Amino acid sequence: QDDPIPSVRFPNGIDVPALGQGTWAMGEDAGDARAEIDSLRAGIDLGMTLIDTAEMYGDGGAEEIVGQAITGRRDEVFIVSKVYPWNASLKGTIEACEHSLERLGTDRIDLYLLHWRGNYPLAETIAGFEMLKASGKISAWGVSNFDTDDMQELLAVPDGANVAANQVLYNLSRRGIEYDLLPWCQSRGIPVMAYSPIEQGHILHNAELIRIAKAYQATPAQLALAFLLKRDGVIVIPKTSNAERVRENRDCVSLDVTDEDWQSLDAAFPPPAKKKPLEML
Ligand code: NDP
Repeated sequence: QDDPIPSVRFPNGIDVPALGQGTWAMGEDAGDARAEIDSLRAGIDLGMTLIDTAEMYGDGGAEEIVGQAITGRRDEVFIVSKVYPWNASLKGTIEACEHSLERLGTDRIDLYLLHWRGNYPLAETIAGFEMLKASGKISAWGVSNFDTDDMQELLAVPDGANVAANQVLYNLSRRGIEYDLLPWCQSRGIPVMAYSPIEQGHILHNAELIRIAKAYQATPAQLALAFLLKRDGVIVIPKTSNAERVRENRDCVSLDVTDEDWQSLDAAFPPPAKKKPLEML
């Protein structure tokens, strides 16, 4: 029996698993489609039912892969997708969402995000999001790559307080948000989605991460994911197109790390001592 995946509550009262699945780089190569669909389905079977995608990924190809993976099981999953900033006018937001729905083969997106800030006024994008909500095409909306000052600006815009999540770069080697953005979101009940949670694989060679993981018969990826998962209101979305790694990543929930080992990890990956501008990939 697998240990349960902790859950995170969105402001609209919906609970989602704190460990989901990313899809960046899926849908780019037809030869990889089988493995991508199989791994997403394996993840759904294991309870990683939140799937993060975007119109950007594979130029729409990733959304098509997600659509195939969720065929016949739409109600088991929570779909997150994103609009490009240059599509985020009022009309453009609505059209982009409709195209995403077609590729996903569904009639609603559970959470729709502005991928990063662009030139359209926030008020216009939000008006588009609110219209999509009113028509049932999305259930909630949020943002991505917003720093604390962006979030403050957002809350001052009409309906801006309806923001349901902020998706940002967060992993052991990118801890800047712990200084201000993370506590700011936590205190307001706005979930933070941690993207690139294993820094696209680059942190897995860290000697201290390897040493501590070994002590628990765990992998470095599992320890890096467990580090994020223990934080309140954080949703972690590792991407893998390999079903065995889906299993490995799922099992990070069973890691029970001592305070002493977390401190050793802090020494190897120091938390921020002052404000750092939000980084993005
Ligand atoms: P991740 O940190 O999730 O790393 C993904 C890479 O790590 C892939 O190359 C994968 O390879 C490999 N990997 C996955 N699991 C393991 C494992 N257990 N052991 C070893 N290697 C592993 O990077 P992403 O940038 O993909 O971030 C996750 C998701 O976040 C994205 O897919 C996307 O959905 C979202 N994202 C959002 C952004 C935004 O601006 N809002 C920006 C970047 C990402 P393989 O598939 O071969 O297993």
